[in-house]
Amino acid sequence: MNLEKIMNDLEKKHPGENEYLQAVREVLESIEEVYNENPHFESANIIDRIVEPDRILTFKVCWVDDSGKVQVNLGYRVQFNNAIGPYKGGLRFHPSVNLSILKFLGFEQIFKNSLTTLPMGGAKGGSDFDPKGKSNAEIMRFCQSFMLELWKVIGPETDVPAGDIGVGGREIGFLYGMYRKLARENTGVLTGKGLNWGGSLIRPEATGFGAVYFAKEMLATKGESFQGKVVAISGFGNVAWGAAIKATELGAKVVTISGPDGYIYDPDGLNAEKIDYLLELRASNQDIVKPYSYEYPNAQFHQGKRPWEVKCDIALPCATQNELGKEDALNLVKNGVICVAEGANMPSTPEAIELFLEHKILFAPGKAVNAGGVATSGLEMSQNAMKLSWPRKEVDERLHQIMISIHEQCVKYGKDKEGFVNYVKGANVAGFLKVASAMLDQGVI
Ligand code: NDP
Repeated sequence: MNLEKIMNDLEKKHPGENEYLQAVREVLESIEEVYNENPHFESANIIDRIVEPDRILTFKVCWVDDSGKVQVNLGYRVQFNNAIGPYKGGLRFHPSVNLSILKFLGFEQIFKNSLTTLPMGGAKGGSDFDPKGKSNAEIMRFCQSFMLELWKVIGPETDVPAGDIGVGGREIGFLYGMYRKLARENTGVLTGKGLNWGGSLIRPEATGFGAVYFAKEMLATKGESFQGKVVAISGFGNVAWGAAIKATELGAKVVTISGPDGYIYDPDGLNAEKIDYLLELRASNQDIVKPYSYEYPNAQFHQGKRPWEVKCDIALPCATQNELGKEDALNLVKNGVICVAEGANMPSTPEAIELFLEHKILFAPGKAVNAGGVATSGLEMSQNAMKLSWPRKEVDERLHQIMISIHEQCVKYGKDKEGFVNYVKGANVAGFLKVASAMLDQGVI
């Protein structure tokens, strides 16, 4: 593989798509060795075929706001690769959404889904629509208009979207309602559905729970556990919430949460009551970070700062891409962090990752750590197909087992001669080998 040539060609073809190019480079660097050892990959030109999406649907979404004004947003679905199963990946509604971000997320999703042990291909979609500050009725009208286009390319055996930033249970409900009306069928076409209409228990908390189950396995390789550890978490969305609950349950003290404006440091740690309070704030569409520090006066709000300056044993970045840079990594290392597990997708910059690996910190990438979300979506699809609903314990046990299995795959392909596990390499190689061999089996299509 001539990595630099591949990257130069891609940069020329897709100028300015920085997040996408960053994600491709990270994967190619990790798989270079295994790729070169298997000449049949090169003869089938797997790299050129895997780095480009199968197709991209772009569409406009027109909707009417509460004042009667017509609004126009952009909608996308990037169907990246379906060699091992139907396309699967979330929808993101956020003003920062563009093609580069969705292509990076869709590309990552291929390998993440492959790691889950379930038959799911990779995709991603969304819109530059900003749900913040919108009324319920506006969100409903937007979701309905979005689905008027999207429904043409999705289906339970074709492409099954889920939530992501800005798309939670409420949005999935509005999207599903419109799909059902258009398609005239009740099928498992979206995951993250409500429990009364085909959803799975544990799905809302699955990404965060899975992240902590994965970090637990990482810690166990060093004879460590969550018990008594100080944990720094960023964000307070779907992922951060589940991670905070599970880490607390396992005996850790979660001392930070954050938002785009800054972070909260609570030296006393979160507990069930505080988590419930945060959820209430979130559900009422309010800013959560400042009110929290008024309600719990021991907690301090640090405006414009990130939580990575706090002394902690375990860091769980759960907010967004590139939210942990080199300076942040230096702070964490200086303060004695032992484990960094990415709940979000690509939250650490390449420079930060390099630093963690250099210092032999237990570091694992989002595609392994946060795969519990899509894995539980896969379990939701299975329940829908069987027209069954598994009890909470059963879903949780399956999720836990999947996270253990993902960890084993990372160790298998990422452990070096000295016994250090490079989880970035392990996750990328394991994810790639399964998809690439499926592509080989199925010919050039
Ligand atoms: P949410 O929208 O539920 O939460 C995102 C959280 O991060 C919010 O608390 C948000 O604050 C905060 N945030 C956003 N931007 C920043 C920033 N620049 N700095 C600090 N905090 C910020 O999203 P999810 O929890 O669903 O997703 C979080 C990450 O996890 C994403 O990378 C997503 O792709 C990934 N992921 C999600 C999965 C899922 O099942 N939901 C599955 C796998 C990965 P505020 O609300 O105030 O803007």
